[in-house]
Amino acid sequence: MDVFPYRYRRHQRDIVDFVKASVSHGCTAVMESPTGTGKTVCSLSGVLSEAMEAGRKVLFLTRTKSQQRQVISELRAISKRAHVFGVAMQGRTPSTCPSIAGDPELSSGSSEELSKYCSAMKKEECGTRGCEFFDRMCQDGIDDVIDHMRRTMPEPEELQEYCAGRGICPYETAKAALTYADAIAVPYSFFAIPDIRRRLEDWGNFALQDVTVIVDEAHNLPDYLRDVMTSEYTMRALDLAEKEAREWNDPLLCEGIRATMLTAAIGSALAEAVEEFVVDEDAMLPPYYLQDALMGKLGATSASLERAYRSLVEMGEVVTESKKARRKLPRSYMGSLGRFLQFWGRCEDEIYVKLVNGGENPSFEAYCMDPSPAAEPFRICHSSVHMSGTMGPLDEYVSELDLRRAKTQMFESPFDPGNLRTVHATDVTTKFGEFDDRDNRERMVYHIVSLIRSVDRNTAVFFPSYRIMDDLLSLGLSELIGRPTFMESRGMDQSELTDEIGRFRSAEGAVLFAVSGGRVSEGIDFPDRELEMAVIIGIPYAFMSVKQKALVRYTDIRLGNGWERIVRAPAVRKMRQARGRLIRSDTDRGFCAVLDRRAAGLKGFDASPSENPAGDAVIFFSGKNN
Ligand code: SF4
Repeated sequence: MDVFPYRYRRHQRDIVDFVKASVSHGCTAVMESPTGTGKTVCSLSGVLSEAMEAGRKVLFLTRTKSQQRQVISELRAISKRAHVFGVAMQGRTPSTCPSIAGDPELSSGSSEELSKYCSAMKKEECGTRGCEFFDRMCQDGIDDVIDHMRRTMPEPEELQEYCAGRGICPYETAKAALTYADAIAVPYSFFAIPDIRRRLEDWGNFALQDVTVIVDEAHNLPDYLRDVMTSEYTMRALDLAEKEAREWNDPLLCEGIRATMLTAAIGSALAEAVEEFVVDEDAMLPPYYLQDALMGKLGATSASLERAYRSLVEMGEVVTESKKARRKLPRSYMGSLGRFLQFWGRCEDEIYVKLVNGGENPSFEAYCMDPSPAAEPFRICHSSVHMSGTMGPLDEYVSELDLRRAKTQMFESPFDPGNLRTVHATDVTTKFGEFDDRDNRERMVYHIVSLIRSVDRNTAVFFPSYRIMDDLLSLGLSELIGRPTFMESRGMDQSELTDEIGRFRSAEGAVLFAVSGGRVSEGIDFPDRELEMAVIIGIPYAFMSVKQKALVRYTDIRLGNGWERIVRAPAVRKMRQARGRLIRSDTDRGFCAVLDRRAAGLKGFDASPSENPAGDAVIFFSGKNN
């Protein structure tokens, strides 16, 4: 059955066939599918045609809400050719859980905390003191709501609006519809975090072995899985745990150790570790550093520390129960500290490195270097598709996650390669130790200014870090450019960034300062003339912190090519993502200048050497090189 809903364009039939063939044999399809190939509709069509016949569900894992909207939009198109029903499910936020809207504390809850809060609210009898939105669902029934969903297949925002009109809960409504769905779009966390995944299996009435999983923007998955397995505890969290302990009469955790004695000992061990070990931003801790420090400061044995940690966890449960009863967010800082300390004591596995981080809010961190244990569900599910516009090198992705029965394929961009020209300057660099050279920085500023002033086009300048952005701006870059400038600043919230980008889009000959790997370079589309030139400053290699060095070393031992995998490939991916902002359709044209001589021969990123990038930009836009 061919469910592809449009007329096939270049490469699309190949992508659908590749996905279909892989999935039908229970394999893992890993593919690079650039912008314009229609990877969402191609992957869904390839998977659904096979999965529906076999009675399997499809899980589509996304990073952003706009990707979820795209999934539902393509499913609607497919539903004109085949009887298919899809549901997009998001975590609890004020939009999906109206019970927490308007309450800043509840709105800040983690998924685990809000799950407990919701369970408590629902346990109260329907129609009495429970959640009014859930009560209404109980009273009115949900059958006609499900009928409505099956008829209209709403996007998340449309479902929220519909539920608001009926005064019912969007989260519970989407949950109730999962059992009827052929395809379910969820954030990564719904699959990667074991507790949430098990609940999803239950709600959707499926077993992991019987689903096909599609991962969008999959180049993010290894880092995401590392983060899922990493645990960090900060000085600020410790202060909150101490405050909570005082509010609860400073409980005695075990013989001779009260909660505030433990928090004080941890705080001083953390401060001493920063003082003694951290040089730049982090440091590796000696084995058993924290345990030895606490035993020394508290005169405790390892067994009594274990008891103290257990008591903290139990105390945390008392606190959360009490908060639940008062309809507060069931959060306990003592409980979190106890769980962290138990985890820290257990994770002696070689896949972890134990670190102390300096800075304004120091922390202990058990950093997981190996994402493959967290990728286990991908080895259990029936089949999966991993795709992105910047996936390569595909074999490295497969081995890093230890994916089984993998089939890999690179698909080409469908756009005319003549619409994009990339050059790199030969006389500048951001290389450590050379960037600070005065002549180098002046040449860098000269190239940026002359590129922008030579062509009257909207331009994005991507810096490798905020530090280098600040440094070059301090040389008067904005004034020298003499054009309207806009900026993706540190810590900008999403609505501020959206407003700033809106102003950039509507200006002419404007300049947007952003960072490689940031939200502008990874996730925002600029069609037509909204963006025509990208200037990439330097090669955006990650800062070689102690953590990063440990990851390179570990990967080198585990898989080989540690530096290539952990440093070069992500930097190239960031550059390709930044350059990719220029060409979003077959009529877009764009010029990209990389201001770093190290771009010569950089594997995975083609650029021609240029002694005069500004002159080349003028020639490109005048059409003389066509
Ligand atoms: S039932 Fe819905 S609105 Fe009520 S607490 Fe749970 S998620 Fe929130």
